[in-house]
Amino acid sequence: MFSFKTTVLLVLFISFMVFVAFFGRLPALRRTPIAKLHKLIWVQIPNGVLAMDQALTGGRISGYLTRFGNFMVYDRHWTVVGFFLAILVVSECMYLPHMWPKIGTFTKLTVVIVVAMPYTFLYLACASDPGYITPENINYHLSLYPYDHTLFRPGRECKTCRLLKPARSKHCSVCKRCVAKSDHHCIFINSCVGYGNQHWFLLLLTSTALLCTYGGILGLSHLTARIYQKAPNWSMWPPKNMSMNQYLGAWGWGIQENVNIGATTLLALLTCPLIWGLLIYTLYLVYCGTTTNETLKWSEWKEDMQEGYAFRRSMPPNSPKNKLVEPACTRWPVETEQVLVTTMDGEPPKEDSRIPGEGPWERVWSLNHIENLYDLGLWDNLVDVFVPNYTFGTRGDEPIVERRRRTR
Ligand SMILES: [Zn+2]
Ligand SMILES: [Zn+2]
Repeated sequence: MFSFKTTVLLVLFISFMVFVAFFGRLPALRRTPIAKLHKLIWVQIPNGVLAMDQALTGGRISGYLTRFGNFMVYDRHWTVVGFFLAILVVSECMYLPHMWPKIGTFTKLTVVIVVAMPYTFLYLACASDPGYITPENINYHLSLYPYDHTLFRPGRECKTCRLLKPARSKHCSVCKRCVAKSDHHCIFINSCVGYGNQHWFLLLLTSTALLCTYGGILGLSHLTARIYQKAPNWSMWPPKNMSMNQYLGAWGWGIQENVNIGATTLLALLTCPLIWGLLIYTLYLVYCGTTTNETLKWSEWKEDMQEGYAFRRSMPPNSPKNKLVEPACTRWPVETEQVLVTTMDGEPPKEDSRIPGEGPWERVWSLNHIENLYDLGLWDNLVDVFVPNYTFGTRGDEPIVERRRRTR
């Protein structure tokens, strides 16, 4: 189909672009070369082209391009979902017909399941409501999580939707609606990841990681068996009995001998670390009881704390609530025990009846001294992701607050 060199270059290019697109905007990778490259590709190069067009045509071409760019970035469209589906379909069409006659019945059965899962979960992640907040369901969404008086405070209204912002929600500028427990807007599913579809998104990541790993290992076992047949002295790892050139040459022969299996195996193995990386990062967020949106907010708090602008005081249990903007109780088993604020001058806040909590203000220097209200421990965090509307109560006779203290 393609020559060996073109295939390898194409596979490397696709893997690299997917890597930058996936990881470039992760808060954890801020200030790394990956983020800089992401900025270069998505901000600086387009800006350079715009400046050139301004000088040459008075900005006519960039006018069209900006409208197109705005549509690509700020509107919902299926381009990336199509790209993702195309990679899946083309790889499988290249791989499966050649691999099928070489595998046994049990392997065939597992292949069918592993191939079908990403499509199923992609459909469910795209098609299900991520938790769009409407006037009809706002009360339900307000009852899901209490306000932590740090990242989320009661009484704030979305300027676009003109609705109260429930705790953990965020307005999505692409979907143009507020989303409950908003994680991020994901171009790979052309939708937000939120309270309603976070479990499908996690299963999509898991099944895609399995597909790449399984396809990679199956392809690798076929390739190495073929190379052994041709060069019985060859060993996959460590390279021995031959020079490095001969060793790599044997790999090259194996991939070229059946380019379809060789190229897709290479693509699967190269994308494996990216998909596993994203899956592990998403699971880590579940473990921490947080979302991508909230990690961004926490990183801002971290900077304020390091500069000495953050203050905390306690929030007594059963503090009075303004029933107009906050439900009396939620399904969440715990309420916040603290109020955090920042001040502009680095001095503790002046007494103000609008700021809740009581007692003296203490300056907070580090996130380590702060409780995350939305972290109940790994097990309950997973339940919250996978069982929508779960009412956290007591497990046996053990009150959940005790259980939470113990899991910390
Ligand atoms: Zn909104
Ligand atoms: Zn969105």
